[in-house]
Amino acid sequence: KSAIEKKSERTLGLIKPDAFLKVGKIVDAIYKDGFRVAQLRTLQLTRRDAMEFYAEHEGKPFYPALTEFMSSGPIVAMELVADGAIQKWRKLIGPTNTFTAQKEAPSSLRALFGTDGTRNACHGSDSTASADRELGFFFGSPSRFPSTARFNNCTL
Ligand code: ADP
Ligand code: MG
Repeated sequence: KSAIEKKSERTLGLIKPDAFLKVGKIVDAIYKDGFRVAQLRTLQLTRRDAMEFYAEHEGKPFYPALTEFMSSGPIVAMELVADGAIQKWRKLIGPTNTFTAQKEAPSSLRALFGTDGTRNACHGSDSTASADRELGFFFGSPSRFPSTARFNNCTL
């Protein structure tokens, strides 16, 4: 493995259905912030998929609306690689609630592209354990191709 791959961390980033058409602007911001994109795909979750992905929130009042929203249209799933990628990505996306993000972090992705408290443009893993689980959820089977993460450190 290269030095970059050894010291890098990876996280799962999602572009949620409300921001699907902003994929260009969001990927631009991702590269400008110094991430490498190791994997990226579009897909649509079923309601059942969304319930499994967000199982930790089962029983909370927002769980039905969240899983309905997350299965309502296409999303983009990304494996993002950087030093400290988990916290770095959560900082780039900003606070959970879009309106809080607009007040406290106006240049964050949720502030720029989110809609409300549930429809907040992006998801980010919150720990190494959840990053492993969530990357497995979307990118489970091993790829026949080696990761290109070390090549795509573009300067924009
Ligand atoms: P985060 O996505 O910032 O990690 P959580 O894990 O707490 O936040 O919640 C998962 C998702 O559920 C949020 O991104 C948001 O879409 C939705 N959500 C969280 N809390 C609320 C809430 N109080 N009201 C409505 N939707 C919520
Ligand atoms: Mg969370």
